[in-house]
Amino acid sequence: MSRAKFQLLLTRHHLRTVLPGQPPFVLKCRVTVVDHNGHLRMRFPLAAIVMSVIACVHAGSWAPQSNDKSSPPPALAWLSTDQNFADVSDISNVKVDLRYASENNFLKRNVYGDFHQCFLHRIAAEKLRKAATELQEEKPGWKLLVFDCLRPRSVQEKLFAVVKGTTQQPYVADPRSGSIHNYGFAIDLSLEDESGRELDMGTGFDDFTPLSQPNHEREYLEAGKLTKDQIEHRFILRNLMLQAGFVQLPIEWWHYDALPKEEVKKRYKIVE
Ligand SMILES: [Zn+2]
Repeated sequence: MSRAKFQLLLTRHHLRTVLPGQPPFVLKCRVTVVDHNGHLRMRFPLAAIVMSVIACVHAGSWAPQSNDKSSPPPALAWLSTDQNFADVSDISNVKVDLRYASENNFLKRNVYGDFHQCFLHRIAAEKLRKAATELQEEKPGWKLLVFDCLRPRSVQEKLFAVVKGTTQQPYVADPRSGSIHNYGFAIDLSLEDESGRELDMGTGFDDFTPLSQPNHEREYLEAGKLTKDQIEHRFILRNLMLQAGFVQLPIEWWHYDALPKEEVKKRYKIVE
């Protein structure tokens, strides 16, 4: 059917006024398809079209991506049953806000698609549980606010493709060698207090400036670029994580590895 030869006409509309003082609006109407000679080809209520579109969107067949956060996409479904990995979002004082599964990240785009789960290798998951238990005792009502967990290499490739050739490329590991996130041994996180407020750490997550680097904290405090409170907040997070057995990445206050990266790369497999 050539579109140029057909027209959609709104016919038999009914005007109703439903609010006092408001102009009438179209309550019901019918869509008619006529060919270039004006001959009737199809006629159906507009409501049927609207309902079909709503049904499509609701079923997800028309939506750009699924919002189902309870299970990973089919290619990664095995993570849910593999005993080497655990979804840590069930820990009561852990709040998962996967930034790459939203547009709230330095790329301003969702690169995770349908992948919304926070999986970690069971060794890392166990250490996170320890940190969460310790937080519960020290700061009841506070939460570990998690930004990133296991990142499959397929996602790392997408991420790298976006930054390749830009000034952001040095901040994203080349998928050929892999990031510790690709093994499920790294986690990016912050803290939320009992009122649900994200703690001020001096910079946001994925702020790739020297101000984010733990190894420069002392000089920035002395220079007045970081406040005592911001340093204190980082210390609370760091103490929890180090006591639970994590290793701090010296250039990102939010990034922790569950084991030294050399050991991870030698002993474990990348999640593709
Ligand atoms: Zn990280």
